[in-house]
Amino acid sequence: MKDFASSDASEVKRAAALIRSGELVAFPTETVYGLGANALDILAVEKIYAVKGRPAGSPLIVHVDSIEMARTLVRDWPENAEKLARKFWPGPLTLVLPKEPHVPDRLTAGLDTVGIRVPSNAIALALIREAGVPIAAPSANRFTELSPTTAQHVRETLGDRVAMVLDGGHTTVGIESTVLSLAGTGAILLRPGMVSQADIEAVIGPIRVSRSAETAAHPAPGMHPRHYSPRTPLVLVDDGILPAGKGIYLWLRHQVDSARSVKMPDDPRAYASILYEKLHEADAEHLDWIAVETPPQDASWTAIRDRLERAAAR
Ligand code: AMP
Ligand code: MG
Repeated sequence: MKDFASSDASEVKRAAALIRSGELVAFPTETVYGLGANALDILAVEKIYAVKGRPAGSPLIVHVDSIEMARTLVRDWPENAEKLARKFWPGPLTLVLPKEPHVPDRLTAGLDTVGIRVPSNAIALALIREAGVPIAAPSANRFTELSPTTAQHVRETLGDRVAMVLDGGHTTVGIESTVLSLAGTGAILLRPGMVSQADIEAVIGPIRVSRSAETAAHPAPGMHPRHYSPRTPLVLVDDGILPAGKGIYLWLRHQVDSARSVKMPDDPRAYASILYEKLHEADAEHLDWIAVETPPQDASWTAIRDRLERAAAR
């Protein structure tokens, strides 16, 4: 990520004015680039669904600049929300809570809950502050495709369908936020992310892990079995045995001399931060396949395994 420069301040002002007037602005967060609109403006929210080609049944995450702004959107702010927000915000943890009636149903896909987080990216925070409204922002890509981690990725896929793209360089975390529901009795992890189950449990005690990928009536968008996918078929391999044809192999332990290969970082944080970038690069080459060595079973790799398994689903 590049530093917040003074030139960014005027760009952010312009972007904030666009948000307030109901336009779409793509902006960097620490996870991936978001496709932002005023979360309280139904017509602006509609535009997000149209531009992404996202089904109406998929709720959007709302980005806020503070706990105070988060609390304007929810009926109830439980003790656990306060503890988690204090520990992880700004940062890549989305909290799902019962929504206030003024939060549009269109935004929450008809659910009576809303997903909220405070992003840590300086440009994202400045944009929300300057706009003065909560900003709904799913990843700035077409539905089911790879999430963008650079402004260039956004321009390539969404082009002139957004009023403006704020350029913050590479995102740092690199994969989507952890999503945790605090809406019912007990906390439920809906989507794994780099804030891990163990990180959360260290603050609020044991939580449950959703299996809604298989069962939910309202699968959350990140929970569709096929998601986060490059156009090129992606295969997970354990043994260095690669498909026929031309491809690229992203490896960790089993190097293969017969194919073009990229050594991926052994540290899960470093791995996550470049994963989508590598997949975008490979995808642009129109190969027959992208092979990725299955990451370790260790809990620190859970979110990465989740994204790769969905990317590999056909
Ligand atoms: P995206 O913004 O594209 O990264 O995906 C949005 C994610 O937010 C989904 O995977 C859901 O898990 C989650 N989400 C947002 N709002 C809700 C909600 N009201 N209930 C459950 N999950 C939500
Ligand atoms: Mg997405």
